[in-house]
Amino acid sequence: MNRRKFCRTAVAAGVAASYPLLSACSRKEPPVASAVDTSIRGISLDGAEIELEKAAIKELGDAMTGPVMLSGHPGYDGARKIWNGMHDKRPALIARCQNNQDVRHAVDFARDNSLLLAVRGGGHSWPGKSTCDGGLMLDLAEMINIDVDVEGQTAWCEGGALLGHLDDATLAEGLVTTAGVVSHTGVGGFTLGGGFGRLNRLYGLTIDNLIGAEIITADGQVRMVSADNEPDLFWAIRGGGGNFGVVSRFHYQLHPFKRELLSGMLVWPVAQAREVLEFYAEWSPGLSREMYTGPAMVTMPDGTGVMAVEVVYNGDPVAGEKELAPLRAIGTLIDDGVKMQDYKVMQTQEDAALAHGVRSYAKNGMIKEFTQGLVNDMIDAFINDPRAGIFTHTCGGAVKDHAETDTAFPHRNAESMIVYFTGWADAAEDEEGKAMCKQWHAALESHHGGYYDNIEQETAGTVTSNYGPNFARLADIKGQVDAGNLFRLNSNIKPA
Ligand SMILES: Cc1cc2nc3c(=O)[nH]c(=O)nc-3n(C[C@H](O)[C@H](O)[C@H](O)COP(=O)(O)OP(=O)(O)OC[C@H]3O[C@@H](n4cnc5c(N)ncnc54)[C@H](O)[C@@H]3O)c2cc1C
Repeated sequence: MNRRKFCRTAVAAGVAASYPLLSACSRKEPPVASAVDTSIRGISLDGAEIELEKAAIKELGDAMTGPVMLSGHPGYDGARKIWNGMHDKRPALIARCQNNQDVRHAVDFARDNSLLLAVRGGGHSWPGKSTCDGGLMLDLAEMINIDVDVEGQTAWCEGGALLGHLDDATLAEGLVTTAGVVSHTGVGGFTLGGGFGRLNRLYGLTIDNLIGAEIITADGQVRMVSADNEPDLFWAIRGGGGNFGVVSRFHYQLHPFKRELLSGMLVWPVAQAREVLEFYAEWSPGLSREMYTGPAMVTMPDGTGVMAVEVVYNGDPVAGEKELAPLRAIGTLIDDGVKMQDYKVMQTQEDAALAHGVRSYAKNGMIKEFTQGLVNDMIDAFINDPRAGIFTHTCGGAVKDHAETDTAFPHRNAESMIVYFTGWADAAEDEEGKAMCKQWHAALESHHGGYYDNIEQETAGTVTSNYGPNFARLADIKGQVDAGNLFRLNSNIKPA
């Protein structure tokens, strides 16, 4: 069997450049759990202050292969940071897991001590669910190995890998699966929530390409789940987020892929947004599954508002040019960047603009139809501010091949997801940034039918209705595998 491994050593140089914490924490250095000489304060699952015994902390540190860092460790500050700079939290312990045994030890420790537990995959959680104050951060940042089975066209990918790692490992073999639009997003939270990407109209969401997983549940058991083995749990992790355990490995279906694609951005002055969007509303329902087009409205740093449509055509470029021609003919383009280019160009083009450390707030809404009313309201509501952006994740196509209850992810009827996003650098702008995003979202709310959990800042009180007909089954499964709600830092499904 032809297999290719993509492992830590192979990517160490590239990853360490963007994630300095990886290189800073590869050795055990005090203060680590194994050298602790006093008990420490922690926060319980219920939010109470608790004492963590020195002996128990030391036992965890001795048992784990990876370091268990405490405040003051040279790697602690790097490791506790997540993508959204607004969530500046200080876990009592950071367990940097290297393998399943480490994950089990960390899960057992949190459960046995009733300690608040945050699971960090790629750290891209907008609401900051992968970190916490006073709890245990179970950190998967070094579990990034990927094993591609070239003949079988599948890949096993560790739960801390980033989408860029997955793309790199699979594209090198002429294969691909649906991955999101920013390469430093983690496969963990991304996959468990659904997984929208530029190939989803042809291949479906990432969960539609998930054929199995290895998950460590609250009892410390390692379970292999698939359509044939523990099918209920397998159903739940396809959209139910991190509620059910720590996924140490995902098993993905891959597809043969030519990485040179007709792709790029079409850009118009924002004054032509009505013309473009009205045309788009009429034209987009008839598009082929190969054609992905995502409208966006943003303000450039110089204050110029633009209307853009991102294009990726996953098929014969001649057919793609023909299908795209009517859109290209609308209005007067400022820039036509659609050309034959490597898929990775598109997959990394937002990486720098959405770099780690930005302070950010985002909301979204699933859209069943791109109506004239939606176009009117989008244009009326456009916020002309360089800190704000509205973009869409287009779906439809293969995403709709699955029924609402086939996987835990319920929003199968949507044609698109609108994302309202604000980002800024200065903490003094936090309240204004959040308010701007909420105002924009509220102005278009009448067009939404639920939201995508993975790009939503505040889900408390809405989780039940957002899962629709899937909620009762999810709560039931949660009750079976996590009755104590150990995995609660997510869009939490309370155990039935
Ligand atoms: C800049 C940016 C771009 C994005 N683009 C897209 C996109 O194109 N398409 C899309 O669908 N979404 C996108 N998202 C949303 C993204 O899918 C979610 O933020 C997702 O949760 C990120 O996963 P992560 O592992 O990086 O996050 P983390 O912050 O590490 O975790 C998020 C949640 O998942 C849990 N979790 C993470 N890993 C695991 C694991 N291995 N096992 C169990 N639980 C785990 C965490 O506990 C937490 O509750 C984007 C987000 C950002 C910030």
